[in-house]
Amino acid sequence: MEVRTCKSCGRMFNCIGRTPLCPACADEMEKKFQQVKEYVWEHRSATLQDISENNDVSVKQLRQWVREERLSFSDDSPVGLECEKCGATIKTGRYCEKCKNRLNSDLASVMKKPEAPKDKIKDPRDNKNRMRYLQ
Ligand SMILES: [Zn+2]
Ligand SMILES: [Zn+2]
Repeated sequence: MEVRTCKSCGRMFNCIGRTPLCPACADEMEKKFQQVKEYVWEHRSATLQDISENNDVSVKQLRQWVREERLSFSDDSPVGLECEKCGATIKTGRYCEKCKNRLNSDLASVMKKPEAPKDKIKDPRDNKNRMRYLQ
């Protein structure tokens, strides 16, 4: 266990996991998050500024929740973030659908490469040769 200073209240606490907040503040933050989630649900046209002011949460914190995909906004909401790759407006996460798909297909092609079909084609022939040799 590691002793840390809480980022929110400045008190020392025994850190479990990677949270920068003491248990009391983490609890408070979780409550805030639930409150914000409900607020967003009820106020679909609220901007980040509105949400921040009405819930006493910093815009920075709100953005972080959105990046973590904990908080998301409906399509008619004015809230938007920029895709970290192309700058397109997105509602949650870090990338737009296009960039997400591209990243996924890049990943998929990287994953496929080591499994070249060469060996599979080679094997039957080897077996035949071996059979012929045996005969
Ligand atoms: Zn604290
Ligand atoms: Zn993008």
